[in-house]
Amino acid sequence: MENSKSVRVRFAPSPTGPLHIGGVRTALYNYLFAKKHGGTFLLRIEDTDQKRFVSGAEDHILRSLEWCGITPDESCWHGGAFGPYRQSERKEIYRQYIDQLLESGLAYYAFDTPEELERVRQKSLDAGNASWQYNSLSRLSMRNSLTLPKDEVNTMLSSGTPYAIRIKFTRNRDIKFQDLIRGWSTVNTNHIDDKVLFKSDGLPTYHFANVVDDHLMNISHIIRGEEWMPSTPLHLFLYECFQWEPPKFAHLPLILKPEGKGKLSKRDGVKFGFPVYISEWKEGENTYSGFEGAGFLPQGVVNFLALLGWNAGGDQEFFTLKDLISLFSLERVGKSGAKFDYNKAKWLNQKHLQNLTQQNLFEALKKILDQKAIDHQYDENTLRHIASLAGERASVLEDLYRESAYFFRSPTTFDTTILSKKWNAVSKHNLMVFGQKLEGLEKIDEPTVKELLKLILHQNQIKFGQLGPVLRIALTGRSGGPGIPDICSVLGKKACLHRVKKALQDFPEIG
Ligand code: GLU
Repeated sequence: MENSKSVRVRFAPSPTGPLHIGGVRTALYNYLFAKKHGGTFLLRIEDTDQKRFVSGAEDHILRSLEWCGITPDESCWHGGAFGPYRQSERKEIYRQYIDQLLESGLAYYAFDTPEELERVRQKSLDAGNASWQYNSLSRLSMRNSLTLPKDEVNTMLSSGTPYAIRIKFTRNRDIKFQDLIRGWSTVNTNHIDDKVLFKSDGLPTYHFANVVDDHLMNISHIIRGEEWMPSTPLHLFLYECFQWEPPKFAHLPLILKPEGKGKLSKRDGVKFGFPVYISEWKEGENTYSGFEGAGFLPQGVVNFLALLGWNAGGDQEFFTLKDLISLFSLERVGKSGAKFDYNKAKWLNQKHLQNLTQQNLFEALKKILDQKAIDHQYDENTLRHIASLAGERASVLEDLYRESAYFFRSPTTFDTTILSKKWNAVSKHNLMVFGQKLEGLEKIDEPTVKELLKLILHQNQIKFGQLGPVLRIALTGRSGGPGIPDICSVLGKKACLHRVKKALQDFPEIG
């Protein structure tokens, strides 16, 4: 590993909207890295861009992380020795550091208005240069504290003229840096803008606040999305200006659309019908669904997100959070984009559902039954049995009910595709025989029904296919599910008989 400092990592979202799964994945990787190395994971809210602030976004961020079980050790909600953890509450700190840069000539005031900047850009475009930059060459012909007389600068500042404070990049310097995932890169300062660090509203921009805070909060490793890679040379230059030791950097791969081209967007969620948030998010008329509402378990989502860019090096794909903490390493994070595969999310969730204890499944099913106000007469043990039977087939929590609804209500629809193949004079006769014999049974439990089926097959010299499918459809309306003896033992004699008789009446006439 990589650093002598103790591991301190941060997730630093801007509350400009709901936390999408890319952000949750970044938080998760930071969390796993921290826990793996006995370090600290903190949450910092980067809210200096007041124009883009969206109310409710902070709560959405916290709720999403807590639901996943990746709770920060330090944050504005959890406390900590390095606060405040919300940047809008750290204004004085930033002012102090920007003054330091101004005094040492590493930053300067710029007074160019947006219209002036636009004019210069347009002029440069007309001359065939589409990428005009405010940099070491152009800055000397702009309106800033490097070109204007000192008195004029002071008058403008004291009269409240809007300004921006820009970094003064040294000309023609190679900034070399190592990314723990991507290796070495070099960027020449001639290709970078004198980025704005501070504005006259008294607030820093993302770049400045981010660097100052990472230093003051003693961050050892920066693990963030690939889209921040181009900002890294500026950040490193700032560390150099302050003579601070920079943290290590690791930029995570993009999360791609299911078809593999382009970044996953919230619109993809709507288009393909899958969640891209953890908790639901409402925006105007639109409601974007979340994994929580779609019936996922936190364990399943965490497992899925962990594999969006990382692998353990073998074939294993099922991991608990505990497994992930012990196995996670940045060396096994890939460089290329990770495709979002919703079927895989469901498959992994199914594995985690199957891994739940019977008690967990029972509680989950009970919750759904209560929510739906479903009346039933089952005792607790039978409900546990139903929950286990449904748990074997469920991908998401709602499936615990979908896969067991026939235990609570007589089926009203029947699988007609299978029925059209299997419903004939022979199967009708066998179903009738089954009903008659069932009536004669004292008690209905799994072994007795199993015996009964065996006996009917033997006595009538028929195969299971000439009774089983239609019997199952009579009992459940469906053609798949748990074993028939299991179903009968849960339903009990009365319900089974009633359903068989009803099927004999309702199934199509045999021509
Ligand atoms: N506030 C930035 C964001 O919204 C943080 C980027 C970083 O981690 O440095 O993602």
